[in-house]
Amino acid sequence: MLGWNRFSPKEFIFCAKIPQIITHDKLAEIGPSLESELDRFAELMLPLNNSGKLGCLLLQMPPKYKYDLSHLESFLSILPHGFKYAIEFRHKSWLQDSTWPLLSKYNVAYTIVDEPLLPPEVHITADFAYIRWHGQGQRPWYDYHYTEEELKSWMPKVKEIEPSVKTTYGYFNNHFHGYAVENALRILQMMGKLTPAQGAAFNRAKGHLEKGKGPEGLGEWVKGGDDRPKIIDLLSALMGESRLARALAIHDEEVNLKTATSEKVVAKIRDYNLTMDFETRTITHDCGDWERSIETRQLCKHVGKVLLSLPEKTALGWVTQIHEDPEAWHFQKPIGKTVAT
Ligand SMILES: [Zn+2]
Repeated sequence: MLGWNRFSPKEFIFCAKIPQIITHDKLAEIGPSLESELDRFAELMLPLNNSGKLGCLLLQMPPKYKYDLSHLESFLSILPHGFKYAIEFRHKSWLQDSTWPLLSKYNVAYTIVDEPLLPPEVHITADFAYIRWHGQGQRPWYDYHYTEEELKSWMPKVKEIEPSVKTTYGYFNNHFHGYAVENALRILQMMGKLTPAQGAAFNRAKGHLEKGKGPEGLGEWVKGGDDRPKIIDLLSALMGESRLARALAIHDEEVNLKTATSEKVVAKIRDYNLTMDFETRTITHDCGDWERSIETRQLCKHVGKVLLSLPEKTALGWVTQIHEDPEAWHFQKPIGKTVAT
């Protein structure tokens, strides 16, 4: 946090999401344990807040958190002072008239959302506004790119919000291809607020996306089935996002699956071999990156791509098991063979 504070440009504003241990795990019981988590997080954020670089803190509530005004009030009343908060509900029951005055009482902004669970209603409950563009359709979460038309349709709402508050924060929740940058700058352009520096960044972002077009992306892959977002989540934790992106860029024809069951996977990918054995929890592979994987316990792009090529249920089984206890798995090279580099 001290680094963010020190090395970010002077005018830079951060907004941060409150950890799930607060908004999910400990939310039910309003008490000392929840309060100490809140205090710990607030203390962490203090350097940014003191230097004026902290916009607001986002409370993203779990989808199962349903309308309960007295619980919400108890929660809002223990939030550390001196910070701005926005609350994002994900259950429709909160969309009723009695919710807004309570948020106003604590100057907590209702988070205006574009997402599948809630309608895109505008409610101003604080002296600032917070908009989150998650994406449209059933499965937007990981890789959504808004079209110009979709963003244009938001302009009337943005223009309604802006004059009623001091500050409007707008966020795009997608990260894999960097669509968020281009989308956010486009919104500013539509509002006529693009600075020359942002205009240059906008052109760079557009150029970058133009170049990045090629292999079928994550968005397409995720649309393929119900378990796919979960597989992506777990894989992303097991190999990191950039390696996962490289795995997705490998063409299907470069993978030759010889065995693909929940007990055993044998595959050839490009010039490399991969064997995964469930009983002995062993992954045997021979690319150069794998040398490092053995130490860092991060899957390489080949293992990632093979896992992405398995039938969905089988893939989910493997990925879940590895994720559950990575230390229990043996990452090894084929015996008696040097690893290709
Ligand atoms: Zn590899």
